[in-house]
Amino acid sequence: MNADTFARLKRAVGAKGFSEDPNEIAPHLVEWRSKYQGHTPLLLKPQSTAETSAVLAICNETHTAIVPQGGNTGLVGGQIPLNGEVLLSLARMNKIRNVDASNASLVAEAGVILDEVHRAASNIGKFFPLSLASEGSCTIGGNLSTNAGGVDVLRYGSARNLVLGLEVVLPDGRVLDLMRSLHKDNTGYDLKQLFIGAEGTLGVITAATLKLYPAPASYETAFIAVRDPAAAVELLDRMQTATGGLVSAFELIPRIALELVLALIPGTRDPLASPVPWYVLAEAISAGKVSLREAFQDTVAKAIEAGIVTDAAIATNETQRHDLWRLRENISEAQKREGASIKHDISVPVKDIPAFLKKGMAMVAAMVPGVRPVPFGHLGDGNIHFNFSVPKGGDGEAFLAQWSAVARAVHDLVNSFGGSISAEHGVGVMKRDDIVRYKSATEIDLMRTLKRTLDPNNILNPGKVV
Ligand code: FAD
Ligand code: ZN
Repeated sequence: MNADTFARLKRAVGAKGFSEDPNEIAPHLVEWRSKYQGHTPLLLKPQSTAETSAVLAICNETHTAIVPQGGNTGLVGGQIPLNGEVLLSLARMNKIRNVDASNASLVAEAGVILDEVHRAASNIGKFFPLSLASEGSCTIGGNLSTNAGGVDVLRYGSARNLVLGLEVVLPDGRVLDLMRSLHKDNTGYDLKQLFIGAEGTLGVITAATLKLYPAPASYETAFIAVRDPAAAVELLDRMQTATGGLVSAFELIPRIALELVLALIPGTRDPLASPVPWYVLAEAISAGKVSLREAFQDTVAKAIEAGIVTDAAIATNETQRHDLWRLRENISEAQKREGASIKHDISVPVKDIPAFLKKGMAMVAAMVPGVRPVPFGHLGDGNIHFNFSVPKGGDGEAFLAQWSAVARAVHDLVNSFGGSISAEHGVGVMKRDDIVRYKSATEIDLMRTLKRTLDPNNILNPGKVV
C-alpha cells in the first residue's frame, strides 16, 4: 500500500480511529482456535457509518484490500487478514441507537456485543433470542455476517430470522439504508438477506434493526439420559407435541463430552446418578402464564415407560438451570483443554442424525485408530459439532495433520445424506475450496457473479467464501 493511501485512510477515521501499534493489533490477528495467523500494516476503527463509508471508498479507488472484523470469535478464519490486508474493526460502532418496546424492535450498531443486546432487550421486558457461548465477545455485525445459530434456533430461527432492517456500506462506499422496521415488506428482492451470512464479502454491516420477543416468564430445563441418538430424535418429537412447539433448545451430549467438562471445568457435577452413553439437554420457554413443568414431567415419564429415556434431572430453580447449561456451554472449552481436536460443523436432516453418527464415527475410527469422537450440539436443528479429540496420549501435531483427510471423508458422508458442511459457522477461508465440491456449478457461478457485481475490484474480504 502506498504512503498516500495510508495517510488518506488514517485521515478518514481521525486520530482515535486507527492503530499501527503491533501490541494493540496482535490480538486481532489470531483467532480462538489459533488455527489462522494474520498480519496487517494498519488497524482502522471507524466510529460512524460515514467514516466506514469514507474508508471503503478510498479502498475501492486505490484497490486496497480490507477485512471486516467484529468480536473476532469466528471459527473459520473469515475475520483474519491473511495476506496483509487493512483490518477494519467495527468495535467502536457500539451504540444502541433505539429501543422500541411497542414495535418489539431495537436498533444496534455493528460493534454492539451480543450480551449488550440481551441486556437492552431485557431492560424493556423483551427478549433477543440469539444465544451463543461466545455472546460475551461476539458482535451483532459478526453475528449477522455469519448468520449465527446457537442453541435457540429450533424455536426462533438463526440470526437472519431476527432482522427487520439493515444498514450496509457497499464496497464502493455507498451506504445502503435498508433500516425499515416492518414485519412485512414485499417490495422486490429482500436485499438485506444478501448481506446476512455473506461473511463480510459483499458489504460492511454498520447497523441493524433487530426483532425482539416477549421475555420468557419461565424456563423448563432438563438433563435427560437417552437410550441412543434415535431415542433422542423420538423424544424431541414427543416434547414438541407435549409443549405445543415451545421447545427452544434440544442439545445432544455424549458421555465423553460430559466427562471432559466434569474433569476440566471446575465447579461442575454430573446431574445424574449413573453414567450412560448419550444425554440430551432440553429446554422449553414459556412467555406467558403457561406452566410447562407438567408437560416435561409427563413426557419424560412416558418416555421412560417406552424405554427411550432412562433417567432425567429437571431443574427446579435458576441455579440448577444455570448448572445444567454450564455442562453444555463448556464442552468446546473442555475439549480445547484436553488437547488437539478435529472439528466439523455439519447438518443433516434431523431424522438421519442417528444413521449419520453411526456411520461417521465408525469411518473416522477406522481412519485414526484410538480417536475419541465427541459429537455434540444442536440435534433439534440437525446440526452436530462432529468433533474428534486426539487419541489418549497421542501426538497432537500428528493428529492434526490428518485434519484434511478426515474432513474430506466426513464432508463426503454429510453430502451423501443431503447435508451441509457448514451449518452455522460459515465458510471463511477454511471451507472455501470445499463448498465448490458440494454445490452445483450453477450455485457457485451465481455466488461469484454476485461477488463480482457488488465488489468488482475484489477489495472486501478477498479470498473468503468464494
Ligand atoms: P468475527 O469473528 O469478527 O467475524 C466473523 C465474520 O464476519 C468474518 O468473515 C468477518 O469478516 C465478518 N464480519 C464481522 N463483522 C462484520 C461487519 N460488521 N460487516 C461485515 N462483515 C463482518 N457460532 C454459531 O453460529 N453458533 C454457536 O453456537 C457458536 N458458538 C461459539 C462458541 C465459541 C466458544 C466461539 C469462540 C465461537 C462460537 N461461534 C458460534 C462462532 C462465532 O462466535 C460466531 O460466528 C459469531 O457470530 C461471530 O461474531 P464476531 O463478532 O466475533 O465476528
Ligand atoms: Zn453450535
